[in-house]
Parts: sequence; structure tokens; C-alpha cells
Amino acid sequence: MKTHELDRLRQKVDEINLQLLKLLNERGKIVKEIGEQKTLQGVKRFDPVRERQVLDMIAENNEGPFETSTVQHIFKTIFKASLELQEDDNRKALLVSRKKKPENTIVDIKGEKLGDGTQSFIMGPCAVESYEQVREVAKAMKAQGLRLMRGGAFKPRTSPYDFQGLGVEGLEILRKVADEFDMAIISEILNPNDIEMSLDYVDVIQIGARNMQNFDLLKAAGKVNKPVLLKRGLAATIEEFINAAEYIIAQGNDQIILCERGIRTYEKATRNTLDISAVPILKQETHLPVVVDVTHSTGRRDLLLPTAKAALAIGADAVMAEVHPDPAVALSDSAQQMNIPQFNAFMEELKGFRSKLAGSVQHSV
Ligand code: PEP
Ligand code: MN
Repeated sequence: MKTHELDRLRQKVDEINLQLLKLLNERGKIVKEIGEQKTLQGVKRFDPVRERQVLDMIAENNEGPFETSTVQHIFKTIFKASLELQEDDNRKALLVSRKKKPENTIVDIKGEKLGDGTQSFIMGPCAVESYEQVREVAKAMKAQGLRLMRGGAFKPRTSPYDFQGLGVEGLEILRKVADEFDMAIISEILNPNDIEMSLDYVDVIQIGARNMQNFDLLKAAGKVNKPVLLKRGLAATIEEFINAAEYIIAQGNDQIILCERGIRTYEKATRNTLDISAVPILKQETHLPVVVDVTHSTGRRDLLLPTAKAALAIGADAVMAEVHPDPAVALSDSAQQMNIPQFNAFMEELKGFRSKLAGSVQHSV
């Protein structure tokens, strides 16, 4: 008999649940109409005065058994859900998000495509030091069939007394060598006022880790018609990284390449900690190509090859690494740049690895 009574009560509760559900959704429909009216009238969706009035009305009319604070809490949750209902989901989604654009953005750099499912290599010296130095690296790259060359002309150095780069002269060297070998240039710009000038020299504007949240620089890069390689900040979360890219796309430039270059952690065995899982996360969350810089993330020559393999295996669109004809005398990052024979061995190994992958793994994104 007792179970029968329990069943009866539960059935009653379920009937009320269904009534509540119906009422909530009826309420939701009206709330959406209110939202449309607010848009037409240009008034803000959130109205704290109105919310207060409703909460007071609930307090006055509450006959229990629930405490007034309890029903008010429940109603506040309903208010919050209603406000979300009034917001256009699509409007909230970031322009860089897959939600906004499901298909991959393909960045075309002088015919070399990033984001089309093929995997590329971006190689070159840390800093431009001389025409001969850049030329030697370019020659080796050309022999390996590579066309994307990096090289810093403006160097963001930790110490103001360290080599700061050759500046515009460095860009001139890069352009000259690139034209000679039919290659494309990726070089960092530090100052928003230099963006216009850089268009004459570079094929891709690099925004470095130290400038990931230099919003004026991001906006300036967003206003030009040139691909931008954006590096993840030294201590930036993935969300902050994605928002930094949003600053660029919001100005109209959607030719953005994201670069994971390691983040600062307590680990000292490597210069930074390569956040390899950032690659599939960024590819799921955004439609942009993702590059892994194995030089700055590890700071160790012996780790370049295994981390590059990891990057290719996890679905990166390109691997970036530094090459110098004589790393021992390099003016920056001498501990981790590869010399030419090391670069050749690195490339041979990776090209084999890449074709093996292409034969066996189908990347889902
Ligand atoms: C670079 O790529 O030259 C560089 C300075 O790297 P990051 O900004 O990632 O430190
Ligand atoms: Mn470097």
C-alpha cells in the first residue's frame, strides 16, 4: 500500500514538473520577444531595476513552504537563463572560432598553403646578421625544397644590451635573398608604426610572444592585407591566445597563423614547456592554421627532432625551427640553432616521418 502512495505522489510531482517546463518555455518565448523589442528600441538587455521589482514581488507573494531566499535564488537562475536566451549565440561567437566558421582558413603564402591539410616547414636563422649568413641558410633550404624562411630583423631581447637586430637593413637582406631563391619571408615586427613599412619586405608579419597582448600592434596588423603569424605569449592561456588572434581578425585581416612556442612553467630542463595539446585544442576551437616552434619551446638542439615529430603527429600545419651556418658564433640563440648538416639530417628524417604519417594517420581536423 505504501509503495502505491509513493507512486501516486511521484506521479503528481511529475505532472507539476511538466507544467513547470511548459510554463518556463512559454516564459522563454515571451522573454525572446522582449529581447527583440529591446533591440528595436536600443535599450540594454540587462535591467537591474526591473529584476529588483520582480524579486520584491516574489518576496511579497511567497506563501511557502520554500524560504523567500530560496525562491529568489531559483528565479535569479531563471533570469540569467532568460538573458542568455536574448543574446544571439552567433553574435557571441568569436570570429576566429570554428563555431563561426567551420571550415579551415587556408593561409596562402606565395603559393605555399598553411591549413589545407599538408604540413610545411618554416626554417631560418634566429636573427638576420648578414647577407651571406641568410643566403647560406636559404641555399640549404632551397636544396631541401623549402620556401618559407624566417629571420628576425627586429629582435625582442630580454636584455637591452644584447643584439637588437639589424632593423630595416635586416628586412632588406631578407627580401633580397628571398627574391633570389623565390622564397617567402616571415619576420617579426615590434612596433605598430613599422607595420606599413614592413609590407614592402615581408610576406608574413610575425608578432612575437612578448607582444601577444600588445593590442595596438595586433590592431595595426589586423588592418593590413598580409598574413600574420601570432606567437603564444610566454605565460598566456589558450583563451588569451585566441582572444589575441580575435584582435587581429576583428580589424578585417583573417590571414592568421597561430604559433605554439612553449609557455613558462616551473620546469627548468627546457627553456619553455612545449604545450603540445594546445595544437589540437587550437585546431578544434579555431579555424586557423597552427604552427609549432620547436626551437623556442625547447631551447635544446637535441629535442628539436622528437618535438617536431610530435608536432607533425598531433596535426600541426607547420614546424618552425632555427638554422644558422655557424651557431656557435650566432648573435642570438646560439645554443639551440642547427647548423646546415644538422638541418639537412633533421629535414631528411622529418620528411620521411611526414610521408609515413600521411599514409597512416588521417587528422580529424
Ligand atoms: C622568434 O621567433 O624570433 C622569437 C623571438 O620567438 P618568441 O617570440 O616566440 O620568443
Ligand atoms: Mn631565436
